[in-house]
Amino acid sequence: MTELAPPPVRPAYRPYRAVVQRVERLSPHFARLTFSSPEFEHFGTAGLDQRIKLILPFADGSLCDIGQDDEERHGDWYDIWRGLPDAVRNPFRTYTVRRIDPRARELTVDFVVHHDAGPAGTWAENARGGEELVIVGPDERSPHARGGIDWRPLHASRVLLVGDETAVPAIGGILDGLPHGVTADVFIEVPCAADAGVIEPHAQADIRWISREREGLPEREHGEGLIEAVTAWAREHGEVLALAAAPRPQELADVDVDVEMLWDSPEPIEGEFYAWIAGEAATIKILRRLLVSGHGVDRRRVAFMGYWRRGVAERTG
Ligand SMILES: Cc1cc2nc3c(=O)[nH]c(=O)nc-3n(C[C@H](O)[C@H](O)[C@H](O)COP(=O)(O)OP(=O)(O)OC[C@H]3O[C@@H](n4cnc5c(N)ncnc54)[C@H](O)[C@@H]3O)c2cc1C
Repeated sequence: MTELAPPPVRPAYRPYRAVVQRVERLSPHFARLTFSSPEFEHFGTAGLDQRIKLILPFADGSLCDIGQDDEERHGDWYDIWRGLPDAVRNPFRTYTVRRIDPRARELTVDFVVHHDAGPAGTWAENARGGEELVIVGPDERSPHARGGIDWRPLHASRVLLVGDETAVPAIGGILDGLPHGVTADVFIEVPCAADAGVIEPHAQADIRWISREREGLPEREHGEGLIEAVTAWAREHGEVLALAAAPRPQELADVDVDVEMLWDSPEPIEGEFYAWIAGEAATIKILRRLLVSGHGVDRRRVAFMGYWRRGVAERTG
């Protein structure tokens, strides 16, 4: 008797053809875009800080073929994209699932409207209903559908969440999924006070919004207020950080954030405290040093992610 070959394992991520369904202005610096696709029926539902890639159309609406219409090529989307000539290769950028509703076949993404010339920010600012793009996201039917998630607190009962505006969608997703009994200290820096409130208050979270805007004065430097607030919190909460102390002194390699990615999402270990920190790379680097070198927090209990770098476009190639 001939044995049947097992069916191929579905890739964790695959490209979905999608259409802009709705555009909402949430605040001066946030736009919420809801995308629809019949194939979102299969989109991964893990939520939290799960990342996705948006393949952005050219000005004439054209989109390259990265295997979106051929299931057999879904797992090869990145190699196909990389092999395309520059002239037809659409840019892509990294975003976060803010909400997925497979029954309604809708996916929501919150964009920072940052006015710097970048393909994603510019596109989101001008997007209209009916525009098409390709979204590379998780496939619920894959055994690896929970890829692209850096929030791994295991059974921690006390968590620290820190981020700038680009981390707001991820923090929102994490709070949506916060298990009962876990308490969260949350620090979020946004461009102006009117951006606070993009995330709903949460009974288990103490959310502190830090605005760069100052009345009658120029805007504060990016990260300055966030670093100040987290430094003060750490100083006042030595007993919390002691719960996560490293057993021995730790070495931190010096990452040049203009050249390399600052990304440390270690394999987690059990413990009462866990921290998740994401945003502009230079700010994250300072916060990392503050917690790990300054307060001796075990680096295995802290995820640090440079989501973007000031003055540098996202590296995709
Ligand atoms: C895992 C992950 C998840 C992310 N999730 C989200 C999300 O849900 N929503 C979101 O808005 N962003 C998110 N980001 C950040 C987003 O990918 C970057 O902001 C990206 O650079 C935007 O692409 P762009 O085409 O607008 O700009 P790029 O072409 O990458 O950069 C062009 C210029 O714009 C500047 N720039 C980029 N982003 C900003 C910004 N936010 N403020 C000011 N200047 C900026 C760059 O420094 C550069 O000078 C995420 C990043 C990662 C890694």
